[in-house]
Amino acid sequence: MNTLRNSNAERDARTLVHPYSNLSYDTESRLLTIVKGDGCYVEDDQGNRYLEGMAGLWSTSLGFSEERLADAANAQIRKLPYYHLFNHRSTEPSIDLAEKLLSIAPEGLEKVLFANSGSEANDQAVKLVWYYNNQKGRPEKKKIISRWRGYHGVTVASGSLTGLPGNHADFDLPIRNIIHADCPSHYHHANPGETEEAFAERLAESLEAQIIAEGPETVAALIAEPVSGSGGVIVPPKGYYERVQKILKKYDILLIADEVITGFGRTGKMFGCETFGMKPDIMTVAKALSSSYLPISATLISGEIYNAMVEESRKHGVFAHGVTYAGHPVCAAVALETLKIYEERDIVGHVAEVAPHFQARLAALADRPNVGHARGIGLIGAIELVADKTSRAPFAPARGVGPAFQLHLQRNGVIVRALRDAVAFCPPLIITKDQIDVLFDAVEDGLDFVAREFSAETV
Ligand code: PLP
Repeated sequence: MNTLRNSNAERDARTLVHPYSNLSYDTESRLLTIVKGDGCYVEDDQGNRYLEGMAGLWSTSLGFSEERLADAANAQIRKLPYYHLFNHRSTEPSIDLAEKLLSIAPEGLEKVLFANSGSEANDQAVKLVWYYNNQKGRPEKKKIISRWRGYHGVTVASGSLTGLPGNHADFDLPIRNIIHADCPSHYHHANPGETEEAFAERLAESLEAQIIAEGPETVAALIAEPVSGSGGVIVPPKGYYERVQKILKKYDILLIADEVITGFGRTGKMFGCETFGMKPDIMTVAKALSSSYLPISATLISGEIYNAMVEESRKHGVFAHGVTYAGHPVCAAVALETLKIYEERDIVGHVAEVAPHFQARLAALADRPNVGHARGIGLIGAIELVADKTSRAPFAPARGVGPAFQLHLQRNGVIVRALRDAVAFCPPLIITKDQIDVLFDAVEDGLDFVAREFSAETV
């Protein structure tokens, strides 16, 4: 351990609280301090290079050294480092970005409300749904349905939407009016022999039964990631959204698409909504909106919801919502440049070109003894690590196979992310076929490591 690492690790342990980390662990021995990046690679304070197989947090779509984004930030910070959108003030970058976003967004989305993070974008989506139904004179129509294993953030409302019990435990979540529906994972929840279509039909029936049991007049919206990311990369079964949307329509329930991971090419189309035929009333985006170079998110809303907001403003004298950094000009300038690059370099076309190779390498892992399932779409995927392939018995959590797998790959220069029993892959969208091979060669080696070091114990 050299002096720099010693110093970083010691100072970090003394000062920082790490999100999504076990705070009881000794940070000093585990710390990975990233100091620079280039293309799909990052480098730590020891000079070790890693292929970033997770694009940071599913997000640095253009990799780690896009000069144009640095230049856009530089130019804007020199011209106007900050201004806001309150009280009818505006900035050119936020106008340009809103215009650009709406020009590529799914049909029916007509206005943009900016924020800073995915959590905030979803949080304000919830508030807007409540606001909308109050304006419509149906104050009882307030429940938001999320799905188990869905991930929507960590604020009080978005953390409630998140369908992972660990995000609720001892945080006193979920809050009132947020309920959860079935997780659409065929691998985890289909009956033996049940086809994807039959499973999708059963999920839809169960959703309808839940809505009826709650009282359709009390259910306002359903929020869904086209593909759930942090919940373990759950790709919905065939026909799922078609069936779900029919039910939502029947009971006058809004659809919120959380495109925080799937937005901007990840699934092989500009938005996951296009891939899965979703027609959202509200769509949230963040992460790849700026390739994560600066924090910015947005909630896109339909004209009908916007009109209700206008009426509420008339009634109260103000739309009393907004955050200091909404549409921050430097973040907006970087996001706008990001969207221009997507277009100019046909990033969606690139994903469509390399994704079959990514998915083929991923699918090939399904034959490995410790892989219960390999799933994905576009440039996102996951494998499910199991102790026993036939019974699908997981490894005992105490054995820590996921973290050990992740660490093994890290030692071999590849970053992936263990999520419970799944290991996720979500590289920068600029990844090449050769780099996809580097990623999956390391994963293959990691599976050899699991087979070697972890016996078939299941308890
Ligand atoms: N929604 C989805 C689908 C996400 O994956 C995430 C974060 O991973 C969020 C929302 C929350 O975004 P943030 O961490 O920027 O608050």
